[in-house]
Amino acid sequence: MKCDYCGNEAFYYQRYSNKHICKECFKKDIERRVKKVLGRKIIKNNVKIGIGISGGKDSLVMAHILKKLFKHIPNAKLICFFVDEGIKDFRETAKFYVEDFCKKNKLKLKIIKFKDEIGYTLDEIVKNNYLKELNIGKPCSFCGVVRRYLLNKYALKERCDYLAIGHNLDDFCQTIIMNYIEGNIKNIIQFGKEIDDDKFVKRIKPLKLIPEDEVKIYADINKIEYQKDPCPYSSISYRHKIKEIIKILEEEKPGIKFSILKGYEKLLKYIEFKEDIKKCKICSYPCSGEICKVCLWLKKLEQLNK
Ligand code: SF4
Ligand code: ZN
Ligand code: ZN
Repeated sequence: MKCDYCGNEAFYYQRYSNKHICKECFKKDIERRVKKVLGRKIIKNNVKIGIGISGGKDSLVMAHILKKLFKHIPNAKLICFFVDEGIKDFRETAKFYVEDFCKKNKLKLKIIKFKDEIGYTLDEIVKNNYLKELNIGKPCSFCGVVRRYLLNKYALKERCDYLAIGHNLDDFCQTIIMNYIEGNIKNIIQFGKEIDDDKFVKRIKPLKLIPEDEVKIYADINKIEYQKDPCPYSSISYRHKIKEIIKILEEEKPGIKFSILKGYEKLLKYIEFKEDIKKCKICSYPCSGEICKVCLWLKKLEQLNK
């Protein structure tokens, strides 16, 4: 089969576009989509980008493409942040891939540990039954919030203009559908709108238009080595079930993931929403109450150990 773009030997059939593609055109197409998502507002001189890097395929592919895109941009800086939640075996393996990747790509790396920052590893939080005490259902609900908080903290410290997160198209769809199903209107809106606050580093999601399986293909053809085992806590997550449902839908109707995202972005345009953003009295992180979620949890954990 020939590539529909250049006529060379194709290696991949893209079902949603009904095109056969060769390796070179595939790479170019993925990088073009990342460029489109970022735009000239972000790809510019003197910009500093923090990259949340986990060792999985998404964040490493994202870092690889960002490195390529910013290579010739004068005075643009990239710095990687790796959050070590303290998940036995899993995070040590991830760290190995991240350190190796950053070394090979000459990227600055900062390691941030849950243990140093909040006094506990995620394993300790789970093992000591603290999630129940904090009224949190799943480890991911705790882990995700604390990780986002710490990434912001260090991106601020490093004076980054943006914080890049490796969410691919599938991640977007899962979040959108989860919030629809739960009727979580506030989250639906917040997910799509940017927080404008000097204590909040604007997030960018360069892989927004790349389906997960194409991130994997991009990693493989570029020989990017990454951690393949899933987090031991991920299989019990609700997100995992939603992922399976979207997979079935995509198989029956190729391109449905792009429709979910497009429909959601259309919807956002019709929603007028202004939230009164306050600053956490303890750490100044933007939040809707007096104290942010992380500080609240830390206070409760402190009381539990008195
Ligand atoms: Fe944390 Fe859940 Fe991700 Fe594991 S799967 S790293 S617990 S958010
Ligand atoms: Zn081609
Ligand atoms: Zn706080």
